[in-house]
Amino acid sequence: MNIQQLSKRLEAVVSYIPKQSRIADIGSDHAYLPCYAVNKGIASSAVAGEVVKGPYLSAKKQVEEAELTKEVEVRLGNGLEVITPGEVDCITIAGMGGTLIASILEEGKHKLTNEPRLILQPNVSAKSIRTWLMDNEWDLIAEEILEEDDKLYEILVAEKGDPRNHYSREVEKELLLGPFLMIEKNPVFLKKWNQELRQWKNILNNMEKAEKTEALEDRKSELIGKIKMVEEVIHS
Ligand code: SAM
Repeated sequence: MNIQQLSKRLEAVVSYIPKQSRIADIGSDHAYLPCYAVNKGIASSAVAGEVVKGPYLSAKKQVEEAELTKEVEVRLGNGLEVITPGEVDCITIAGMGGTLIASILEEGKHKLTNEPRLILQPNVSAKSIRTWLMDNEWDLIAEEILEEDDKLYEILVAEKGDPRNHYSREVEKELLLGPFLMIEKNPVFLKKWNQELRQWKNILNNMEKAEKTEALEDRKSELIGKIKMVEEVIHS
């Protein structure tokens, strides 16, 4: 991967950036995404945010080598603290856990007053993000699931709006599986949830063998509920 050729995963993230946006890429690491988006004329400018000094320095080096220092500003800081309200039209946060992405949004929500588009790519726990979006009145407008190098990735795109637009009465199911993805049910989606089901059933088997406690029974019934929910979707 470099600034001319992104991974399939980051390419998919970029495909949701509206043309000529001012973007912020949070947790940018090498700043490949912002350099690529500016180079291709997709973003008019970019902030590359990094909380760790090492990646921050490699992002700076990358931007200098690409001669993009006027267009891409690399900033050291935690989450959305690297931007000011109204400074960008679109925020990308990719390659982290969903819980971390949701906490970055929660801590920095006062930076979102101009309602930028959010393009979020969790490696796990997309549900935490869907839940944050719903609780904070952001509407999920698109979702994608893809496979690269034997790993499965989800991409969630949101804009400020009524979250009920894309959810029905089966909210719990939709928060877990994704309201768009569970309708599309493409082969990558089916692969992901069949893998999860296998894992959950193994865990359940081990729980059956363990000594019964109230806490264990609670966890068991939660897991059984999730298995039922997923099976209903993938077998319908
Ligand atoms: N976004 C790139 C991608 O998708 O390929 C890099 C992903 S890398 C696995 C995650 C990056 O996020 C790391 O460089 C890490 O230092 C950075 N990071 C983690 N938490 C962060 C936070 N709260 N604020 C900014 N950057 C963060």
